[in-house]
Amino acid sequence: MSDRVTTVRDLIRTADRRWAEQYHRCSSVPPGDPGYARAQETIATYRKLADLDKEAASAADVEAIIGNNSWSSCTCSECGKAVPAVRECGQPREYDSSTADICRACLAKALAEIDAALADPGRNA
Ligand SMILES: [Zn+2]
Repeated sequence: MSDRVTTVRDLIRTADRRWAEQYHRCSSVPPGDPGYARAQETIATYRKLADLDKEAASAADVEAIIGNNSWSSCTCSECGKAVPAVRECGQPREYDSSTADICRACLAKALAEIDAALADPGRNA
């Protein structure tokens, strides 16, 4: 199993952990701080994500908690469609990396295009 393949279920299973990593500073915002109320909302969101039955929950369940689908949908960088799974291509993902998430259909199309180019005597003499 490749750790560069991500499925929607992977995103559902890891939403709480990823949320905690992204917003870990919220737990240190003290009462009286201007950001305290927002931090408490963020922590409450984490608790809702943590309480989800990750094997039964749907992407829509995660979306309902967070308020958008960016934490529970796989979107192909090539065709732009929401898909069940993507394969990370290019540089391993990090800040400012050149990384693309490509769906099965687009990968198959890319392979067919490479095969066609290699089979073309005009392009592969
Ligand atoms: Zn695609």
